[in-house]
Amino acid sequence: MRVLLSNDDGVNAPGLAALAAAFPDDEVWVVAPDREQSASSHAISLHRPLRIVDLGGRRFSVDGTPTDAVYLALNHVLRGRPPDLVLSGVNHGPNLGNDVLYSGTVAAAMEGALLGVSAIAVSLAARPPHDFGPAAAFAAALARRVASQPPATPTLFNVNVPAGPVKGYRLTRLGVRTYGNEVVEKLDPRGRSYFWIGGDASHQDIPLSDCNTVFDEGLVAVTPLHLDLTHDGLLGGMAGFSIPGYRRELDP
Ligand code: MN
Repeated sequence: MRVLLSNDDGVNAPGLAALAAAFPDDEVWVVAPDREQSASSHAISLHRPLRIVDLGGRRFSVDGTPTDAVYLALNHVLRGRPPDLVLSGVNHGPNLGNDVLYSGTVAAAMEGALLGVSAIAVSLAARPPHDFGPAAAFAAALARRVASQPPATPTLFNVNVPAGPVKGYRLTRLGVRTYGNEVVEKLDPRGRSYFWIGGDASHQDIPLSDCNTVFDEGLVAVTPLHLDLTHDGLLGGMAGFSIPGYRRELDP
């Protein structure tokens, strides 16, 4: 199996090394940002040049975002020899519920799926010191399972692993995780205000959600994601919708 690994914690992050170590008998390629890019979401660098550094041993760093790294990996480094799977992680910290919209870890995997390769984002929902081994081993086992029966269309899985040995997993849906809406205002040395945003994260109690599965049950959460954000339920219920003053073109 040929796998492409990336992350948002940087090419030298221990979680990425642990993930690579979980594929001892496979052709492993690492293309990852040269520094931490957590919470960079799906940003792509369209307005500046990017540099790739060949670190040897099929490892490359990119001075860009996680999305840039996977884009360059699939369209340049591995052009003409696509990997069986893209894996992103192991992130140091969870990516649950709303986190997936901010996460560079998930975005790197998502870029793989957008470019036609099934992908897995894997995150360790634990406090330091981190042992990435169990999460990496679980991700590798899931990768083999996905690659053994390649899906008709590229699939994307978001995996979150609690601390310690893996007790089991649940197939989940995204929960709701919030950051307290906190804004801390301080003064800089020149007397101007600056702000820190994002307080302590908490999650809503939603049975069978990824948040409950990881935090309350201590199980691995495996959430299949799709890239089409269209709200089909709302769309289907808007037959009588109109905006005064504007002609609505009805569906053929
Ligand atoms: Mn990160």
